[in-house]
Amino acid sequence: MNDMNDKTLGRGTLAVHAGVEPDPTTGAIMTPVYMTSTYVQDGVGNHKGYEYSRTHNPTRTALEQAFATLEHGTQGLAFASGLAAMDTVLKTLQPGDEVISTNDLYGGSYRLFTTVFAHYGIRFHFVDLSDLDAVNDALNDATRLIWVETPTNPMMQITDIEAVAKAIAHHPAKMVVDNTFASPMLQNPLDLGADMVMHSVTKYLGGHSDVVMGCLVTSDEAWADALRTLQNSCGAVPGPMDCFLVLRGLKTLHLRMDKHCDNGRVIAEALLDHPAVGKVHWPGFKDHAGHEVAAKQMHGFGGMVAFTLANDDLETAKRVVGATKLFTLAESLGGVESLIGHPATMTHASIPKEVRERTGVTDGLIRLSVGIEDPQDLLADLNQALQQAHG
Ligand code: PLP
Repeated sequence: MNDMNDKTLGRGTLAVHAGVEPDPTTGAIMTPVYMTSTYVQDGVGNHKGYEYSRTHNPTRTALEQAFATLEHGTQGLAFASGLAAMDTVLKTLQPGDEVISTNDLYGGSYRLFTTVFAHYGIRFHFVDLSDLDAVNDALNDATRLIWVETPTNPMMQITDIEAVAKAIAHHPAKMVVDNTFASPMLQNPLDLGADMVMHSVTKYLGGHSDVVMGCLVTSDEAWADALRTLQNSCGAVPGPMDCFLVLRGLKTLHLRMDKHCDNGRVIAEALLDHPAVGKVHWPGFKDHAGHEVAAKQMHGFGGMVAFTLANDDLETAKRVVGATKLFTLAESLGGVESLIGHPATMTHASIPKEVRERTGVTDGLIRLSVGIEDPQDLLADLNQALQQAHG
């Protein structure tokens, strides 16, 4: 088997092979679904490395190795959801510790920070992470984590990962990057100085809208050990069938991401010219505030596009998202099929109106997860929905 740490291997080769070795007992080319909760021991304490499936399961082990390889780290951990992965990182903190995060953040992450961990005495600062002065102002002796999301959900803001890493270089705080929107095919935060990468695997990594899962990748072995202890102690692990589905999904990640990027560009550019559309948020545009940084740290601009209706009106937005036929109205993103959503009432409803509006999540904002269908069909669908909604 190839050495997956060989730096000369291309991203497609890694996507196809990462984590998967022929099964030692049968030679099966795909890691089998080890549907077992426990493992027979030859004698007390005499086992083959597996004791109980909350702690380890061979299908999960293969997937965790694949996550580590794809994100250029040494340690991978899989969780029952993206939020379970985040929850585990936050549980390594103590009351009194502080976290600096971005002011445009996935609503569920914001809710986990402000309604769960704030009650355990963790303090959160939400700042514009592209403004290094704001980061420095919020940084103090109690800061333990910088929680970055880039591109952000839903406004597609970009944080310069390398610049934040340099800004905190002499501070013990660690940087975690939620890399869900980019996937490891478009961005590898550990190479840019981040200490840990987190994914909602539910999205691009799974890729087929059939699994809820999260993961963490780091090369910090001591931190990974602490996280593994929490993973086993708290038990938010994915089952083997879900791990198998994600192992299968990963094999086409490079192909899917290329198509998501191509289709994202076609849709974003067409929306720019549409009279019913106000602003289009996509980091591939030269006039996007984060374009230069995105071009430097990403290998493509992705398939997530947000746009504000010219009239920024709630009722019109509801009519648009209700009128598309190929773009399905649903939460989530990153699957092969295109989805449409209304952040203010769906993914970001847990953020107070005045807080979300400050970053642009207004009632007329619509978010698209552009899938891998034929772009002309997607365009025709959006055009008919915009026309119908404006009557
Ligand atoms: N981070 C981002 C950027 C997300 O979009 C999501 C979910 O939409 C999550 C984290 C949470 O992941 P999960 O839904 O798998 O718990």
